[in-house]
Amino acid sequence: MRSGKCPKCESDEVYLLQSSWTIKNHITISWKNEALLDFYICDECGYTENYISKRYNTNISEELPRVADIKRKNDELRARENKPKDDDYYFEE
Ligand SMILES: [Zn+2]
Repeated sequence: MRSGKCPKCESDEVYLLQSSWTIKNHITISWKNEALLDFYICDECGYTENYISKRYNTNISEELPRVADIKRKNDELRARENKPKDDDYYFEE
């Protein structure tokens, strides 16, 4: 999508909507932090992808648990409890 070609319909009618502090498309990371999103929109089929804008510092790695760390912790717990492996991840603080 970022290359300008839609992965669903292969159209090159892909448009970029960049967030800014006046057009705020965002996700809430915590009570004090939000991340602005940039959208790639296919005008042919409507498929849309969004990415966190790298133009603004979001401190995601300081605010959110890293999935690889959650997975390792869950694998350790399952091994200790002899539970079958599945793909459900849970995170306890
Ligand atoms: Zn498309």
